[in-house]
Amino acid sequence: MVNLLQSLAHRVLTSASVVSSVALGASAHEVTLTAPSFGTWQYVPGQSVRLSVGNSGLNLRTYSVWTLSESLLVLRGFTHSDGPGSQWMAAAAPGTRVALTSPKGVFVLDDDAPWHLFVGDDTGAVPLLAMRASLPDSTPAHGVLVGGGEVPPLGPTLPWVTGVSLLEALKDLDLPPTPGVAYVAGEQQACLEVRQYLRDSLGWPRRAVRISAHWTPGKRGLE
Ligand SMILES: Cc1cc2nc3c(=O)[nH]c(=O)nc-3n(C[C@H](O)[C@H](O)[C@H](O)COP(=O)(O)OP(=O)(O)OC[C@H]3O[C@@H](n4cnc5c(N)ncnc54)[C@H](O)[C@@H]3O)c2cc1C
Repeated sequence: MVNLLQSLAHRVLTSASVVSSVALGASAHEVTLTAPSFGTWQYVPGQSVRLSVGNSGLNLRTYSVWTLSESLLVLRGFTHSDGPGSQWMAAAAPGTRVALTSPKGVFVLDDDAPWHLFVGDDTGAVPLLAMRASLPDSTPAHGVLVGGGEVPPLGPTLPWVTGVSLLEALKDLDLPPTPGVAYVAGEQQACLEVRQYLRDSLGWPRRAVRISAHWTPGKRGLE
């Protein structure tokens, strides 16, 4: 069964190599990959790729696309755990080979939103800041990020805070009185708390809250 899965995965994975890896702080790395087929890939901010990490078996870990242009794909990976994703991000160096899927996912901006709300932790900041940067300046946007601020922005940014939960950080924001569309990314339980608050306490419609759970304590390779 493992051999069958490996063989199927290799048919849909693209082989790429690392061009550069830059430390952004104590626990974040910006890794730039290249492959000839990247030039044909389509990408919407918020989407992610899956990398085959680790030395044995099929270990897939998901990373949000920071930027994709022509033949270069940039990821921002945190090394908060001892898992294969963190180890791969820490060890990536020019010439390292890796196999990955093309960008996919439904965690993207709602073009019809009256205004946008971004809430996330440091891994969540990667898709959220990419989404935020793609909005025209005139589009109303609010939000907050909780963490170390090791993800320098692409363009317009969001405020960083530390020492509070996503929900506490959200409650401190001064928001418009009527619902917008919320994008919440990071630790699973924290994202669910924010969704519950927006829906149950503020009365936001179900479809107005989009979450992307990136990780949760004790679970490996959360998808
Ligand atoms: C849609 C999606 C997009 C993602 N985008 C990004 C991204 O852009 N950048 C990025 O760095 N990660 C991102 N992630 C998370 C990433 O896929 C990995 O889960 C993460 O890097 C940890 O992988 P690992 O193999 O090191 O640890 P795992 O083997 O997956 O986890 C081992 C343990 O480490 C702990 N752990 C894992 N992650 C964290 C954390 N962030 N903080 C504290 N403890 C943790 C947990 O206790 C977990 O049980 C994304 C995940 C998803 C689902």
